[in-house]
Amino acid sequence: MGIGEMIREPEQDVPVLARCDVLVVGGGPAGCAAAASAAELGAKTVLVERYGYLGGMSTGGLVVWIDRMSDWSGRQVISGFASELLDRLPREALLGPPREVWGTRTPELVGYWEDRACAFNGVVTWSPTVDPEMLKLAYMEIVLAKGVRLLLHSWAARPLQEGNSVCGVLFESKSGRQAILASVVIDTTGDGDVFALAGAAFESDIVAEDIHHKMNVAFLWAGVDMERYLSFRRLHADEHDAVVARGKQIGVVDRPHAMPCNDTCLFMGPRLAGYSCLDVEDLTEVEVESRRRMMLMLDFYRRNMPGFEHARVMLTAPQIGVRHSRRLMGTKKMTREKWAAGTVHEDEVAVSPSPDPKYPNVSVPFGCLVPATLDNLLAAGRNLSCDPVTHAFMREIPQCWAMGQAAGVAAAVAVKSRMLVRNVDISEVRSHLWKQGVFLHDERSDVPGSRALKRRP
Ligand SMILES: Cc1cc2nc3c(=O)[nH]c(=O)nc-3n(C[C@H](O)[C@H](O)[C@H](O)COP(=O)(O)OP(=O)(O)OC[C@H]3O[C@@H](n4cnc5c(N)ncnc54)[C@H](O)[C@@H]3O)c2cc1C
Repeated sequence: MGIGEMIREPEQDVPVLARCDVLVVGGGPAGCAAAASAAELGAKTVLVERYGYLGGMSTGGLVVWIDRMSDWSGRQVISGFASELLDRLPREALLGPPREVWGTRTPELVGYWEDRACAFNGVVTWSPTVDPEMLKLAYMEIVLAKGVRLLLHSWAARPLQEGNSVCGVLFESKSGRQAILASVVIDTTGDGDVFALAGAAFESDIVAEDIHHKMNVAFLWAGVDMERYLSFRRLHADEHDAVVARGKQIGVVDRPHAMPCNDTCLFMGPRLAGYSCLDVEDLTEVEVESRRRMMLMLDFYRRNMPGFEHARVMLTAPQIGVRHSRRLMGTKKMTREKWAAGTVHEDEVAVSPSPDPKYPNVSVPFGCLVPATLDNLLAAGRNLSCDPVTHAFMREIPQCWAMGQAAGVAAAVAVKSRMLVRNVDISEVRSHLWKQGVFLHDERSDVPGSRALKRRP
């Protein structure tokens, strides 16, 4: 046998480990939200995750800056699971503005929070940075408290299908190959592993100028004085910019991100273009290259940037940073054209803050989680059905929480009402989402701008 030739795996009998109502594959932001919300509605739920902790990119990827959950007026539009999760964090595990200043445009407050990634376009926003270890714990405790059966260290290898329906997955672990059967499967692998292997159509096109196709291994440094660095950057902007310009000449382009603790900082780069997270050789190369570039950056920062003289590597992300791979072809596709025009979808199951103050809040339809062809499967999180421009903000952690929650509720409602999940009663799904604290548009209108958002009892 030579390279490039094929070998045939022997057939084998695989034990069934569990039969459940809702099987969630992938324990990242979307998967945890999906599992928790399905279990909250009484669905027998199993969550399968390949690593030994929950949170995906938001913990293991060290992507601990949670993007905006408030809109440009300061109103919180991503809540529900998001709020329940963040409320579990101890105060010292979170860096972010208090609720009373969300939406503030006061220059001093904007300046202070801008330095801490909580103000954009002159508005203070709810976009905290969190401690990854405390967030891992919060995810774990929340899904266990809701009654989810958790299987860690378990890699979903193949979907199980009956004709056009997905009815479970085969997964690999130290216990060998096992099966889980389910009434509804939710693919929250981020990369659409389940739906792609089940034969669903997907897209992977990118906007070349955007960062969303870039990969990297993020890292944390300790021994820094971020307050000193931030005041240097603000009070001596010219000197700071000169250091940055010198760094750029040798390929140091990333800026440090403040953490809840002053002596620690985060880098969510260096971003590497031209790699695929679906190619094992590329994954390997990004791991190698990211660490080498980190050492170059460490040397440069130590020698040139105030506050970094004693910096040292604390942690490189256990999980490689992937922003984008496969996007489902759903029964609906979120497009820039629709959200820029302020379209409120009939089947709305989530609302996202808009990427720019000139646009209204964005309505997220259920159809962007439903495969065009396969049954008994939903896909939530960064593998949703959308165009590449929309992906730039819909892939963010809060939006993944919101989509996951919607998928979990829809799956539980479908199981209870013995319907195909694609035909689920959307008004019942919305009613449960309201009860779980999710914000949704409260009226139907095509007029962009200020629609009332209402929290139902
Ligand atoms: C470098 C970088 C910077 C970013 N910056 C920000 C930011 O500042 N703010 C923000 O809000 N968002 C940011 N994002 C985006 C955000 O982190 C992700 O898009 C988001 O975490 C996606 O959530 P998810 O649940 O869809 O997928 P993921 O977070 O990727 O989670 C998928 C989960 O599924 C598991 N899994 C995958 N395949 C399998 C399998 N076959 N079997 C079992 N388990 C599997 C994974 O281990 C993982 O736990 C950034 C992303 C990156 C990479």
